[in-house]
Amino acid sequence: MSTVSRKKAIITGGTRGIGKAIVKELASPNENGIIFSDIAFIYGSCDECAEEIIKTVGSSDANVFAFKADVSSYSDAQSIVEKAVSKLGGVDILVNNAGITRDNLLLRMSEEEFDAVIRVNLKSVFNYTKAVLKHMIQQKYGRIINIASVVGLIGNAGQANYAASKAGIIGFTKATAREVASRGITVNAVAPGFIETDMTSKLNEKQRETLLSNIPLKRLGTPEDVAKTVKFLSSNQASYITGQVIAVDGGMTM
Ligand code: NAP
Repeated sequence: MSTVSRKKAIITGGTRGIGKAIVKELASPNENGIIFSDIAFIYGSCDECAEEIIKTVGSSDANVFAFKADVSSYSDAQSIVEKAVSKLGGVDILVNNAGITRDNLLLRMSEEEFDAVIRVNLKSVFNYTKAVLKHMIQQKYGRIINIASVVGLIGNAGQANYAASKAGIIGFTKATAREVASRGITVNAVAPGFIETDMTSKLNEKQRETLLSNIPLKRLGTPEDVAKTVKFLSSNQASYITGQVIAVDGGMTM
């Protein structure tokens, strides 16, 4: 497959924050002026957000399709991937991005808070990876990028559920990378640090200051910082990289 061929990508959680930036980045033209990828994205609730993205990103020449579903549902994932593959004409790239937080100290954390985060953040990665694999194996080509977190590497008080889900994603990434490497499929994880999105907008000034003091580059990341790394890992330039976790964190976890 040549570098200039137009790819087909499925992205979970494409309506806000990092996922929205990934949709825009993958749908934008590469240096040859050719749209990098047509897109099918999945979102959980915000219909207006999905329509706005189809209008703005779709008008730039890329084909963009949206599917509303709960990513934690195994059966929905199988049927949505089939619908997306038929709209796109195949699938070359999967970005498992959808995620939630339900923070609480462990002693106060409810079973629901634990289960919800594991289902949405981790089980969804199994659901969508399994659904795209048969297509990628058949064509002997694929790029799978899982959005983990630095919290999955170093932990964070009040986020035992979230840290477990993200560490789980890292293990899943490495195991899957080993299983499918011989089929021309790479599987990598991106571990963002603190990125300016709805997920981090609840931080107060004091929490922000403490965070910044631990970030050598002295700023929070942007969704675009993460999206550009995802685009690189999706490209043919990254064909010799698999099973890796790339931290996009301003140097926080070096
Ligand atoms: P966000 O702004 O809260 O957006 C989350 C996206 O996921 C939305 O598009 C949302 O769709 C979708 N989503 C959530 N639950 C879903 C479900 N059950 N089914 C389908 N879609 C669902 O989050 P973000 O900050 O961009 O984070 C994106 C990813 O990066 C997550 O995996 C997160 O853990 C990871 N991350 C973020 C940061 C950070 O600092 N922001 C740091 C490290 C890792 P609807 O709104 O339509 O429901």
